[in-house]
Amino acid sequence: MEHQSLFGIGVSAGFALAPVVKVMPAPSFDSREPRSTDPAADGVRVREAFATVAESMRQRATTASESARPILEATAQLASDRALAKAADKKLKAGAGVTRAVHDAVEEYAILLSNLGGYMAERVTDLYDIRDRAICVLRDLPMPGVPEVCEPSVLVADDLAPAETVGLDPSLIRAIVTEGGGPTSHTAILAAQLGIPAVVKAPGAMSIEPGTSVAVDGGTGEVILAPTEEEVSKLSARARMREAVLAQSSGPGATEDGYPVSLLANIGTAADAESAATQDVEGTGLFRTEFLFLDRDSAPTLEEQTETYIRVLRAFGSRKVVVRTLDAGADKPLSFANLGEEENPALGRRGLRLSMAREDLLITQLDALAAAYDATGRLADLRVMAPMVATTEETTWFVERARERNLPYVGIMIEVPAAAIRAKQLLSIADFASLGTNDLSQYTMAADRMQGALSDLLTPWQPAVLQMIKFACDGGDATGKPIGVCGEAGGDPLLALVLVGLGVSSLSMAQSKVPAVRAALRLHSRATCQQMAAYAVDAETAADARAAVEQLAHPRLKGLL
Ligand code: PEP
Ligand code: MG
Repeated sequence: MEHQSLFGIGVSAGFALAPVVKVMPAPSFDSREPRSTDPAADGVRVREAFATVAESMRQRATTASESARPILEATAQLASDRALAKAADKKLKAGAGVTRAVHDAVEEYAILLSNLGGYMAERVTDLYDIRDRAICVLRDLPMPGVPEVCEPSVLVADDLAPAETVGLDPSLIRAIVTEGGGPTSHTAILAAQLGIPAVVKAPGAMSIEPGTSVAVDGGTGEVILAPTEEEVSKLSARARMREAVLAQSSGPGATEDGYPVSLLANIGTAADAESAATQDVEGTGLFRTEFLFLDRDSAPTLEEQTETYIRVLRAFGSRKVVVRTLDAGADKPLSFANLGEEENPALGRRGLRLSMAREDLLITQLDALAAAYDATGRLADLRVMAPMVATTEETTWFVERARERNLPYVGIMIEVPAAAIRAKQLLSIADFASLGTNDLSQYTMAADRMQGALSDLLTPWQPAVLQMIKFACDGGDATGKPIGVCGEAGGDPLLALVLVGLGVSSLSMAQSKVPAVRAALRLHSRATCQQMAAYAVDAETAADARAAVEQLAHPRLKGLL
């Protein structure tokens, strides 16, 4: 491929130079393959394909982590299941080609497993993985999914599922570039959390040949293919300059004139907590507890959860720990908390709605949290909040259950327009609120946050979204209750100034973003932030809002954007 640059949206700052490995999409059956004329010979080919898949699973199991090993071994066994090969034989005899036979046989088997329910039904995802891999073997295509990587690489994908991103090793995956996705997709969030430089929505990314050396700037969103030495040194110098500005700021967050703004890290696991706690952060403002359970087949027990929460609370000592109860559903489905198919999952029974339908899950979680809090001497500044709250009834329902367990501060997330508009009423029940700007943007603009093509609508710079945030802050003001931000907007150094100007008193973000936000705050007074907020809310368009704020910003802020 000739030398060129691609431009996407930088969502996790940092510089990387490494060869590309690609996440290949799963292929379907070959629609042009001829009908089977020799079912016996084709049956042998199908068996060989399944055997190849089983063997590669067994190989992977030998080097996999303790938790992944049994899953891979069970999948290998499933690929060797004679009933599966026999089902394919039947399809071949009826005239299907080899890939079509595999596809249809798996589909039939999947329905059978689903109907059995329980553990068997949960194997359906593994079965589809076997189907995709067997079809790749038969079509001589590269395997789908995240490839195994043994040397530093840049991972290029159309998009990545949260479960795929969570398992990435930052020492090998030096950067992520996706053609799809958006700044608030969970791939972007998780990449920043893992400290992996990332660029999303980069058109043309999927046409980069594997093995091509690329330089990635996760701050600006630039991806240079086969860069020259000069380009590499320019990009790395820019990254070093940024590092130098950042190294000058430390300590609690505050504006230039000393107005305190807590700077907190978003976490998803106990290991994240232990890593964030070693950094210069004032605690965690969002513990996404559902990330603990993304790849689980069964609900975590009270004991397991208590142990995890103890680790998180211990890590942060007396600092702030804001735990969000399970936010399952929509783009974060959990197999043990599944209420069935929905036409529009993002508008369906997700977040607190799911907890109300499965109260047992919430109660176990609150009990575990209370037990962990007691076990750690009630030392942390612990707060618990519910996701996707829309009404006063929901707020009361949640607050009562948390208070019954003696949890000290009980809050809500404001990520639905209804909650922003009625913040005053909801905050007369709850102790605090945290703005989930990712979902608040999605629901205010009626634009799916997974849709890269809608990122212009999804930006929290949209004056309508800023207005919604203002409604929420006014509700906080009227009740004297604190409001924070824990969506991705809080990690944008320029937008953070606007949020502080609107009245938020804490910002929680991927830990890698804290230093730039801290440095930005230190350069501006609270009055300037308030002026920026007024201009931004009054702007005609998102671009105007950003431009107006940039004009008021300190010149040194440019090096941080
Ligand atoms: C949000 O919606 O802004 C938020 C913080 O929650 P999540 O991204 O996990 O949906
Ligand atoms: Mg949300």
